[in-house]
Amino acid sequence: MPPQKVLAPLEIYKLLPQSNCKRCLLPSCLAFAAAVVGGQKRLSDCPDLSEDSIQKLSVNLQQRSTMEPRKAEFVDRLLGNIAQLDLAQVATERGASYKDGIISIASLGKEFHVDSRGQMKSTCHIIPWVQAPILSYICHETHQQVTGRWISFREIKGGIEWRGLFKSRCETPLKQLADNQPDLFNDLIDLFLGQEVPGFEADIALVLHPLPHIPICICYQAPDGDLESDLNIFFDECCAVNLHIKSLYTLCAGLVKMFEQIAMHHS
Ligand code: SF4
Repeated sequence: MPPQKVLAPLEIYKLLPQSNCKRCLLPSCLAFAAAVVGGQKRLSDCPDLSEDSIQKLSVNLQQRSTMEPRKAEFVDRLLGNIAQLDLAQVATERGASYKDGIISIASLGKEFHVDSRGQMKSTCHIIPWVQAPILSYICHETHQQVTGRWISFREIKGGIEWRGLFKSRCETPLKQLADNQPDLFNDLIDLFLGQEVPGFEADIALVLHPLPHIPICICYQAPDGDLESDLNIFFDECCAVNLHIKSLYTLCAGLVKMFEQIAMHHS
């Protein structure tokens, strides 16, 4: 069952003044809402959020914090599984490399190195959202090479149940970001080796590789007259085989949070 009670940024956003006044030191109320859900801001950091709203929202934020031990258990299980693997063989299948007992996996062009105890090293900051999906990708029982065929999130097993959360935590905040930051896609190309691809009915269709055999395609349609903008994230068919839907969701939600932070620094 999906975690229905986890607070989504939009639930916080609805109760904010939506004035984008930036007194919370973030560029918009939506960025603030996402930062609260991600744990980087407290509700009280918005001086205009009423006491009543803070109390109402705090209940669900507390429920969220009880999920952390479960996440830690999940990572512990993955660490146990890694110890059983032949990392050299796994590296070949997963599009990674192997040397001296270490498997090296590229995420958005940055290398992450994992040893047989699951210890991870990188020149990048290792953020929790990246740790679990990388370990999960290494340990996943099934694996398929990239197919070049794209599917929507809802077509992945479990996607219908997780679709609402995926929309509110991934597609909607990313669309908002693209609306407000015209340079966003150029940044994604420069910083994360994104590639523009033809064949989609969208102004921009950009492929990123958060993991070697997990290509995702972000399709953005800019606003046009009365028509609102639109943004959808598609997955190569192999993603459904190479990661559990929860890990795909975690990966995308983490990416969006990271993009928000980059956009914040720009502004
Ligand atoms: S301080 Fe509050 S109202 Fe102002 S931008 Fe931040 S969240 Fe929005």
